[in-house]
Amino acid sequence: MTVFEHKGKLLIVDCGVLFPEETQPGINVILPDFSSIRDRLQDIEAIVLTHGHEDHIGGVPYLLRERKDIPIIGTELTLAFISAKLEEHRITPRLIEIEEGQRRKAGPFDLEFLAVNHSIPDGVAVAIRTEAGLVLVTGDFKMDQFPLDKRLTDLPGFARLGEEGVDLFLTDSTNAEVPGFTVTEEDIRPAIDAVFRTAPRRIIVSSFASHVHRIQQVIDAAARHNRKVAFVGRSMVRNMGIAEKLGFLQVPKGLLVDVKAFDRMKDDKVVLICTGSQGEPMAALARMANREHTIKIGEGDTVLLASSLIPGNENSIYRVINGLTRWGANVVHKGNAKVHVSGHASAGELVYVYNIVKPKNVLPYHGEWRHLKSNADLAIRTGVPEEQVLVVEDGVVVDLVDGVAKVTGRVAAELVFVHGMTVGGGGSEEALADRVQLSNDGAVTILGILDTRTGLLTEPVEFIARGFVQDNEWIQGATKSIDDALRAANKVKIVNGAELEDIFTQSLTRWMQRKYRRIPVITSVVVDA
Ligand SMILES: [Zn+2]
Repeated sequence: MTVFEHKGKLLIVDCGVLFPEETQPGINVILPDFSSIRDRLQDIEAIVLTHGHEDHIGGVPYLLRERKDIPIIGTELTLAFISAKLEEHRITPRLIEIEEGQRRKAGPFDLEFLAVNHSIPDGVAVAIRTEAGLVLVTGDFKMDQFPLDKRLTDLPGFARLGEEGVDLFLTDSTNAEVPGFTVTEEDIRPAIDAVFRTAPRRIIVSSFASHVHRIQQVIDAAARHNRKVAFVGRSMVRNMGIAEKLGFLQVPKGLLVDVKAFDRMKDDKVVLICTGSQGEPMAALARMANREHTIKIGEGDTVLLASSLIPGNENSIYRVINGLTRWGANVVHKGNAKVHVSGHASAGELVYVYNIVKPKNVLPYHGEWRHLKSNADLAIRTGVPEEQVLVVEDGVVVDLVDGVAKVTGRVAAELVFVHGMTVGGGGSEEALADRVQLSNDGAVTILGILDTRTGLLTEPVEFIARGFVQDNEWIQGATKSIDDALRAANKVKIVNGAELEDIFTQSLTRWMQRKYRRIPVITSVVVDA
C-alpha cells in the first residue's frame, strides 16, 4: 500500500496482503498498518488498484471496514475481482471503472492510466500529476512482446511521460536481480504440450486462482489434446467464472465440466485445475497429497505446478510434491520443466524503462530489500544521480519538493496480523512469539495451593507438561529448584498468590535454561486453599 498526500488529501495506490511464513503459525494473512491514516479516513480521495493480485487488493476489505465509501478506481477485471471479494465481506463498494489511456481527477490528483503487461490481465500503471510534480507508479509489470492477450506494456506512453518529465518513479523491483529479459508466456507452450502429449492418465494443474494467462494456456492445451476441464476450489471457480464472463478467458464451448462428471469419463480425457501451488495446507492440492480430497491421486496421474515458487514457501511445496509422488503421481514443476515464466520485468527491461522514462528521482518498490537495492543500482547505472535514488523500507515518508525527493520522516508500519476473525489488536507480536516458543519447546504449567493464613503451600507443587520433550526425571529437579526459591524468598511469609506465581515462573525459567538450554512456555497458577 502506497499513500500519496497533496494539499491535505490522500490517494492510496494498492492495498494488498502478505502471506504468512512458517515462522508465523496460525496467521491467515498480514495487512498493511492503517494506523497512520486512521484519523484521516475522510481525507482519502480514492484507492487506485493497479491489478487484481492478492498482494495488491487483499487488504481493501479491511480498509473499507473503517470507511465503506472510499471510491475504488480500477480496470474492469480488477474491479470484478475486488467486488467478488468484498461481497464475501458483505461490503458494497463505490467503484469507478477506468481503461488504459484515460485520465481522471481524484481531488487534487490528476490520474492517467497506462496499460502494463503482467501475469494477470488488465493491469495498469498510474501517472499522478499534482502541483508538486509528476509521479509514475508502474504497479507490477513486465514487457512480454508476445503476450497471449496482445496487450503490450505502453512504452510509447512511458516515453511520452518521460518527455513531459517524470519527477518521481516508483518501479517494480521483484526481478531486479535477474539479468536479461523475462521470456514470453508463449515460450512455455511446448512444455505444457509435452505434459499433455505424454500424460497417461489424469492431469491435475495447480496455479494461482488469478493467473488467467496461464490457465488460458492449459485450457488451450486441453482443447488441442481433446480433454475436458474442471475447476476445483472456491477462489479458482469464482475468478475463472468472472474472467470468462468478461471475455478475459476464452473457453471453447463444451470444454468445461463439473468435477463430478470425471467418474463417468476416461482418465486420459480429463484435466483438473485447482489452487494450492504454494503448498497452502488447506488448498485442494495439499489435501490431495494427504489423501484428504475426493480426488484420489494414483499411479499414472500427472500433476503440473504451473506457477512460481514464492520464497518462504519452499518447504510446504516440497512436502506437497513428496506426498503426491508417494501416491504415484508424476509431478512437473518449474524445477524440472519450463512450465513457468515470471510476471515481472527483469533487469534488462527495467534498464530499458529507466532510459525511456528518464526519471529525476527513483523510489524502487515492490520487493524485499535485496530487490530494492538491485533496482536502485540499475537506476544509478542509467545515470540517475545516486542521491536521487531512495531505497527505503515500509513506513518511510518521502517528500517531493521542487523536483527533489527526500526522506523526511517515518510513520508506523507494523505487520498487522489477521488470525481467524481477529484483526491485529494488542499483543499479536507476543502471541506469535508464544506460538513459536510453544512449537519449539512445548509448555509447562506449575500449580500450587496456598494457605494464605500461614503463607505456606498446602502440598507440593504439581507440574503439567505438554510437548516438553524430557523423561519424567526433570520433575524432581524442577521441584527442588522451586523449593530452593521458596526457601530463599520465605524470610517473610508470602500470602500473595501473584507474587508466588512470579517466583515459580522465574525460578523454573532459570533452572530450565541452566539444565536444558531451552525454555518452554511456563505458566504458574496459585490458588488459595
Ligand atoms: Zn502482481
